[in-house]
Amino acid sequence: MEFDEGGYKEAIKVLQRISVQDISFMPLSLPLLEKSFEHSGGLRGFGAYLGRCLNERPGTAIIIAMTHLLLRQSGESQAVDFLTAQLERHPTLRGLNELIDLRRQFQGDLSDNVLELIHHLTDRLLELKPVFACGRCGFSGKEMHWQCPRCHHWGAVKPIQGFEGE
Ligand SMILES: [Zn+2]
Repeated sequence: MEFDEGGYKEAIKVLQRISVQDISFMPLSLPLLEKSFEHSGGLRGFGAYLGRCLNERPGTAIIIAMTHLLLRQSGESQAVDFLTAQLERHPTLRGLNELIDLRRQFQGDLSDNVLELIHHLTDRLLELKPVFACGRCGFSGKEMHWQCPRCHHWGAVKPIQGFEGE
């Protein structure tokens, strides 16, 4: 609501609070947080926030957001180096898919279609995987539900953790 009314600084405050309230919901806040920082005059604050979150609890959404930020601000080789180092510490399928995509776009040999093929396959794998799951009844799917459609509990559906999730 703050964002829609142009209160970008207030939106940033509210969205950053999510990482303290329940960090497992934090990935959902990142796209709007990035936009809020953009509108309020700079992405440096966004980078600093991602850095803090990364220190506290590394997650794929944070790592990918940071990679995209590096790509825009420092170029592809820094972005690829960062993502590679993060994947060694925190390996996930989505992170791997991102790395292959970056290598394919910026460091791939165009005559070599192996990266293209691998990326296609990791994309397909991700398409088959649910993104959110209910901690109470096990319901899972691609969409976020604040109320679980199966057991009707509020706040029990969260981004999936682990290698196939965050
Ligand atoms: Zn449920």
